Amino acid sequence: MTDTDCIFCKIVAGDIPSTKVLETERVLAFRDLYPKAPTHVLVIPKDHYANAAEVAKADPALTGEVVAAAAEVAAAEGIDGTGWRLIANTGPHSGQDVFHVHFHVVGGKPLGPMVSA
Ligand code: AMP
Repeated sequence: MTDTDCIFCKIVAGDIPSTKVLETERVLAFRDLYPKAPTHVLVIPKDHYANAAEVAKADPALTGEVVAAAAEVAAAEGIDGTGWRLIANTGPHSGQDVFHVHFHVVGGKPLGPMVSA
């Protein structure tokens, strides 16, 4: 499944460049273009789903593969010991900008409160 207007589908297709850090048959991880922490990697299913709720409903196994890949990325980045955060912004109140589900792996420094007041 691909959405021709989706920027992350274009990254999966190789039509837009990215800095890949991990790839499996169904999952891709690449560096965020505007990192918010020393480590900031986006982990996505290659198939297009708009958000975490959609992929979880349609393909729970794939959702698990994405989360497992996120943990692998954290270990490869050397932040599994210090800790990291997994964020999947979903819908308007979250500030989701790109509507191809992506899990942010962020870490490499103390991240502060989970949600600002
Ligand atoms: P969100 O606000 O959760 O939808 O996050 C979207 C993320 O995608 C932001 O952190 C952006 O910096 C990142 N982003 C947007 N375009 C690209 C791109 N071409 N390559 C890598 N990261 C991107």
